[in-house]
Amino acid sequence: MTLFEKIVAREIPAKIAFENDEILAFHDVNPQAPVHILVIPKRVIPRIAEAQASDGALIGRLLLTAKQIATDLGLSETGFRLVINSGRNGGETVPHLHVHLLGGRPMHWPPG
Ligand code: AMP
Repeated sequence: MTLFEKIVAREIPAKIAFENDEILAFHDVNPQAPVHILVIPKRVIPRIAEAQASDGALIGRLLLTAKQIATDLGLSETGFRLVINSGRNGGETVPHLHVHLLGGRPMHWPPG
């Protein structure tokens, strides 16, 4: 099981921000911004580089869920950032697709 599957199964605790039958969102344990939430599919897709065309609708719903959480937290007006790290050079550390929702402070570009 991936670390995030264990969070889905409640074997590892997390502060849950949103859940439905196919998506879980929880607060990052090492936040990089005042708001740092991870939005994941419950079904494992290892990384965006391995996503299939058949995963497209689910990935779309992940992004819309991240947007809705940002809206619910009042981040729409000031803005927020969504990040997907893929592979070693992308900075991926957990091989279970996740969208980082970062907000509550200005973000800089380019990222590190
Ligand atoms: P990435 O580097 O894109 O793969 O992101 C993995 C993220 O998972 C990092 O931001 C970690 O801080 C976060 N993380 C690792 N373990 C946990 C955990 N037990 N609960 C919540 N977030 C975690």
